[in-house]
Amino acid sequence: MLNVGRIHKDFPIFKRLINGKPIVYLDSTASSLKPQIVIDALCDYYKNYCVNIFRGVYTLSEEATAKYEAARAKIGKFIASNNPSEVIFTRNATESINLVAYAWGRQNIDARSEIISTVMEHHANLVTWQQLALETGAKIKYIDFDNEGYLNLEELRRTITPKTKMVAVTYVSNVLGTINPVDKIVRMVKNINPKIVVLIDAAQAVPHMKVDVEALGCDFFAFSGHKMLGPTGIGILWGKYQLLEKMMPYQLGGEMIKVVTLAKTTFNIPPYKFEAGTPNIAGALGLAAAVEYLSQLNMEQVREHEKILVKYALERFNSLNYIRIYGPKDPEKKGGVIAFNINGIHTHDVAQILNNDNVFIRSGHHCAMPLHTRLGISASCRASFYVYNTQDDIDKLIDSMQKTKRIFK
Ligand code: PMP
Repeated sequence: MLNVGRIHKDFPIFKRLINGKPIVYLDSTASSLKPQIVIDALCDYYKNYCVNIFRGVYTLSEEATAKYEAARAKIGKFIASNNPSEVIFTRNATESINLVAYAWGRQNIDARSEIISTVMEHHANLVTWQQLALETGAKIKYIDFDNEGYLNLEELRRTITPKTKMVAVTYVSNVLGTINPVDKIVRMVKNINPKIVVLIDAAQAVPHMKVDVEALGCDFFAFSGHKMLGPTGIGILWGKYQLLEKMMPYQLGGEMIKVVTLAKTTFNIPPYKFEAGTPNIAGALGLAAAVEYLSQLNMEQVREHEKILVKYALERFNSLNYIRIYGPKDPEKKGGVIAFNINGIHTHDVAQILNNDNVFIRSGHHCAMPLHTRLGISASCRASFYVYNTQDDIDKLIDSMQKTKRIFK
């Protein structure tokens, strides 16, 4: 069991009172709060060795370089990767997916290719492939989900053809909360054709559960630092070395080269080939601190904690007869996120009234418009949980929702 009382003390933001009241933060799916250890790691870099990496043979630069590379190895270990060369620092999950679409996609996708994605994707893992298909003339197909929010795996099996080159699927839906059986999906795809490349959007998985990229057997795996207690502006693309090696660079410039002459350039090896220019050094160190913090909490405990919260929240939500909840109702198959609507009340009105009680939730389409269209709605409210949330937060959410309902009677 997580000791949430102690965890709260690690997050300086909880000392803030707004209008004299504490905050109830229920939007970690968008971005998590940051513990002091992460803030300290950022400050430590800027105070003590705030110089560029790789380029200097002097002590400060060597220190910064060693810490940057140690951060890469630590973050890799967190997702059970034993090869730091497969861990590329990006800005966020979005950039990680774009990197694959540009660097791998433009070499491997053409008018004869087919790409498979799903209707439940975040736009980062949908628009990117849609656009690649548009530019190359490839065909894109989307796997649907059923009324409970589960992907139709038989449809996926039927949709794969000899032309399929890429399957891009989310690990956990940022709206429905569905935890997709990505291990099963990868196995199914690879059994049909091992050459099909599988990309997992793990933006909502890595922060909340133990993951193992090697065991999964996927080819690419993307996530963001800011959703897992880390800083903004840092993310990861993990990719299989054999693929990374063959890929063209995504951006060109400093650090990603081996030899440059006026006539031609040879490129560095992965991961450096994909890290052109001065990277977000502080961000990498901050993310390593976040990973350390989460590892100490223990990711199995983190998942257990969220399961308890989801179970409790579903019970409380179910006691209200004016609420519609979207996605799985089984806490075993649902991450710490609940999307819902209050009958007859606009999502922004709900979020605004909750805001008056310092209950912070998200409203809108959550960067998943096709998902909402599939549900027959244009928007939803979304409450999401993380290591610092409690059942008391859920009680406050429910109280505030009841108040909202009374106001709009
Ligand atoms: N995929 C999923 C499932 C997400 O939830 C998000 C963020 N909401 C992203 C991708 C994009 O993350 P970022 O904005 O950090 O790139």
